[in-house]
Amino acid sequence: MIIVLQKGATEKQLQDIVDRIKGYGLEPHVIVGVARTVIGLVGDKRGLEPRVFESMPGVEKAVPIMAPYKLASRDAKAEDTLIQVRDVVIGGSEPVYMAGPCAVESREQILETAYAVKEAGASILRGGAFKPRTSPYSFQGLGETGLQYLAEAGEAVDLPTISEVVNPSDVELVSQYVDILQIGARNMQNFALLRRVGQTRKPVLLKRGLSATIEEWLMAAEYIMSEGNYQVILCERGIRTFETATRNTLDVGAIALVRQLSHLPVVADPSHATGRRDLVVPAGCAAVAAGAQGLMVEVHPNPDAALSDGAQSLTPKQFREMVGAVAQIARSVMPEPAKYWWNKNAV
Ligand code: PEP
Ligand code: MN
Repeated sequence: MIIVLQKGATEKQLQDIVDRIKGYGLEPHVIVGVARTVIGLVGDKRGLEPRVFESMPGVEKAVPIMAPYKLASRDAKAEDTLIQVRDVVIGGSEPVYMAGPCAVESREQILETAYAVKEAGASILRGGAFKPRTSPYSFQGLGETGLQYLAEAGEAVDLPTISEVVNPSDVELVSQYVDILQIGARNMQNFALLRRVGQTRKPVLLKRGLSATIEEWLMAAEYIMSEGNYQVILCERGIRTFETATRNTLDVGAIALVRQLSHLPVVADPSHATGRRDLVVPAGCAAVAAGAQGLMVEVHPNPDAALSDGAQSLTPKQFREMVGAVAQIARSVMPEPAKYWWNKNAV
């Protein structure tokens, strides 16, 4: 259930409602929107009638949310969520490019990449330090040293950073070095990890699991939000299908649908979605045309020598061309999102 407050509701009225919710053993989540404040109720609401709240001063209405995800739902918050990371806004009218190598391999490599992607138009620097590799014999990342190099490179070019965290016990460590925590596809349903990043106040980029339904993906976001961290960015990175010609299958329809179902920012990762350098640009263009508000792209100064995911890594030059192509598409679809197909009221 969500409780929608009247426009002029006072602090005292808000507090009384919060207290009543707590009195029922439920947890209130206050979501302050531009037009309205709403309170999401989390917990077992069996037998609780909306009118219990509707009779309270300051309440406009109380509505049950049918979807199993509540805080992530558009019903809880009509307008798009904007996530600000330093001076970068994710979820607004400008596409955000998160670019960098799959893995931080050395100080020189991440510094060189950082300068190149910054020059090419990236707004966030990515680089894996804890790598969830399919084989235990593959390069596993540099760990904390990798995070140090990433942070140094981010500072050098003045870009915020993002890196994956794979263990609940590493969340504190990774949080000390990066601006955005990444939850990888393989960990989308690692509920202990989701809860742990939910306890931080760092933005979290949540990749869709390899075989996750849209509902499972949004439920994973709900895990993070239910701990009080509302800064979740959803990332479509391709799902596993019968097709083997590409590494995964970019689910373009999911991007458009999730823009309808949720207020959270949605970005896409065309690198892991395709696994092929020559398909990254067209897949990225398609994602933005469908409503993605940014892209995460693997870029390496020398992809053929990369320690991981070289086949899908762009050179800095290719990345620059991609930004140019995607920017044109974004200009035609993003300035007035209210008109577009992810706005339920418009179709
Ligand atoms: C990555 O971004 O490097 C990564 C491992 O991605 P995914 O979790 O989508 O496979
Ligand atoms: Mn990778």
